[in-house]
Amino acid sequence: MNTQDYIALEDQYNAHNYKPLDVVLERGEGIWVWDVDGHRYLDFLSAYSALNQGHKHPRILQALIEQANKLPLTSRAFRNDQLPLLAKELCELTGYEMMLPMNTGAEAVETALKAARKWGYTVKGVPEGKAEIVTCTGNFHGRTITIISFSSERQYRDGFGPYTPGFVSVPYCDADALEAAITPNTVAVFIEPIQGEGGVIVPPDGYLRQVRELCDRHQLLMITDEIQTGLGRTGRLFAAEWDGVKADMVTIGKALSGGFYPVSAVLASREVLGVFKPGDHGSTFGGNPLAAAVARAALKVLTEENLIANACVQGEYLMGRLRRIESDHIKEVRGRGLLIGVELKPAAGGARRFCEALKQEGLLCKETHDNVIRFAPPLVIRREDIDWAMERIETVLMMP
Ligand SMILES: *Cc1c(COP(=O)(O)O)cnc(C)c1O
Repeated sequence: MNTQDYIALEDQYNAHNYKPLDVVLERGEGIWVWDVDGHRYLDFLSAYSALNQGHKHPRILQALIEQANKLPLTSRAFRNDQLPLLAKELCELTGYEMMLPMNTGAEAVETALKAARKWGYTVKGVPEGKAEIVTCTGNFHGRTITIISFSSERQYRDGFGPYTPGFVSVPYCDADALEAAITPNTVAVFIEPIQGEGGVIVPPDGYLRQVRELCDRHQLLMITDEIQTGLGRTGRLFAAEWDGVKADMVTIGKALSGGFYPVSAVLASREVLGVFKPGDHGSTFGGNPLAAAVARAALKVLTEENLIANACVQGEYLMGRLRRIESDHIKEVRGRGLLIGVELKPAAGGARRFCEALKQEGLLCKETHDNVIRFAPPLVIRREDIDWAMERIETVLMMP
């Protein structure tokens, strides 16, 4: 079977809830992937940051195979010998007191929202059923009904109501609007430190600090969604560190497993995660030994291979090169570390055709919104790989 055969099968039997580039991948290693027709591509998307450690990292693969061969699943009805070690290692790495393991990012988000509500009722003293959580327009936090209830993206919401109440939205990067939205029943502010899906929107210096101060002043939990920006992507362990801020609660996922397996988690203090009592919340697969072993290896790779520092160095280099491209199509190049958005002018005719052209040149990336090309290669990338990529990117951005 060739590329067209696979596409035809998928179109016939698989729901069309995505519009992928027409490339059918069958193999990956490090920053490279190969399609079923034998073409090689540089992966400049990294599964939206789930592949920070690169494809098929040998140490994570080894951990997966060994644990799969011993004990993949227990459910949380019993304990296993991997989860306690992951919990300790993750808390020591991040400086939080406790973690709660889930699988997908959306589940970690739901978990954080539940924790915040219960904290509001049991610790802050908000009347039962009245808790409010402030979110930001342009956000992306996942696809469950509750999460899309506070999305500002019409396509994510239309046709899926009725929506979950208890959320208000304020413009991103506007601390005054945020303060004005706070009421005695507000329990939390839930925010991305950089909006990834929203177009790689980097807030101005000081904004997250203002959010932190408002949360402190009004006794609110500051919850950051670092599912895409966290675990080294921006050249820091967490992107909020760029503004010198530590959130009360953080959601992580994606790169937590190095792309092998869905693993997510919520990190917070004992006071916050302590609101969950046995039976309050859970997941059959959350915290299973296979996931825990994979996540432990993924975190070790991140730290022992200095991927966070590499993201910082290579990100600066890539951003500098992108900023020097003299293309009439480019409106702005922005980002931090290896999370970079190239916003095109409206007259460029949309980012999609540039992504298609880059695919032809052997570089895979994806538009976000209509006019932004997102560049987010695995954090194992080296300078000479960036040089290779830049030759293609320069060519494509000079297209008429
Ligand atoms: C990807 C993402 C999610 C959702 O993660 P899933 O694993 O797709 O459910 C949530 N928040 C952010 C910021 C993300 O990038």
